[in-house]
Amino acid sequence: MIHFQEPIIQKIQPDQSFSNEIELSVLREDLLHPFLSGNKWRKLKYNIEDFKHSDKKAIVTFGGKFSNHLVATAAACKLFNIPIIGILRGDENVSNPNLLFLQECGMKLYPISREEYRERHNILFLKNLSEQIVKKFSELNCTSADLFIIPEGGSNPAGVKGCREIMNNIPQETTHICVACGTGSTIAGIAGNILSHQIAVGISVLKAENFMSNSILKHGASLEQIKIFFDYHFGGYAKTKPELLEFCDDYSKRWNLPIEPVYTGKLFFGIMDLIKKNYFPVGSKIVAIHTGGIFDFEKALTNKNLEPNL
Ligand SMILES: *Cc1c(COP(=O)(O)O)cnc(C)c1O
Repeated sequence: MIHFQEPIIQKIQPDQSFSNEIELSVLREDLLHPFLSGNKWRKLKYNIEDFKHSDKKAIVTFGGKFSNHLVATAAACKLFNIPIIGILRGDENVSNPNLLFLQECGMKLYPISREEYRERHNILFLKNLSEQIVKKFSELNCTSADLFIIPEGGSNPAGVKGCREIMNNIPQETTHICVACGTGSTIAGIAGNILSHQIAVGISVLKAENFMSNSILKHGASLEQIKIFFDYHFGGYAKTKPELLEFCDDYSKRWNLPIEPVYTGKLFFGIMDLIKKNYFPVGSKIVAIHTGGIFDFEKALTNKNLEPNL
């Protein structure tokens, strides 16, 4: 049995940065579990269920050396006892706490070049890759047909289905649900399960405007109740500026809420700027979703324990 934290909604006290004409709270999806947290667990849940109901023997998935998705998948596969292979973008010989953690969880890493990585949605490429993987990891005793492929980020229909469940923890009177967007599959799930008086507000953490709306439409959501802002990516994915780092530092302390510059820092920077610019009407009840992305690898590597200390 895996222990998941009950949903927590943290109310942010108004101060000089916003008045009490607006309510701001945070749904702490980051606290669900130390490693199966945030939207990455939501996106994995039904993928793992689909795997269990299939006759496949191992999961294959994709990510970079700082990927939150690889972290969540490695931890989930360790806890559910599923063989897992991580296709790693970039073939440089790197070592960081993320990668050590993945390996400690038993994830087999298969690095490929950036050029090859771009082919990750190409069926022929995947077929070839699967053949190489089963050859390289012969101890898995698999054929390529035994591999269950989850796309990067868990962003597929099963992933979007899981993200719909985030809305089960949002109070009905909420007017705006705000979330950081990478591929847009999380906001697609949210918008697919939203009430008629609500708006899903996305803060894009990357530049690609066309990619985002196409990706949301591809995931079956209508754009009617979605508004995405592209003014807060600070130059692109994982790009940052001193102003953003300062914001993360300041607001982490001010609100007692851990945020980081890749996703949730940009989200809250965007929300505070939109409040300042009066985007949210008086009386708005905003719930921001903390999608996770902060892990204590050191603790897990020393304790050799993934589960929360109860
Ligand atoms: C992956 C990720 C996102 C982006 O989710 P998408 O569904 O790709 O839009 C947001 N926040 C965190 C912490 C993430 O790890």
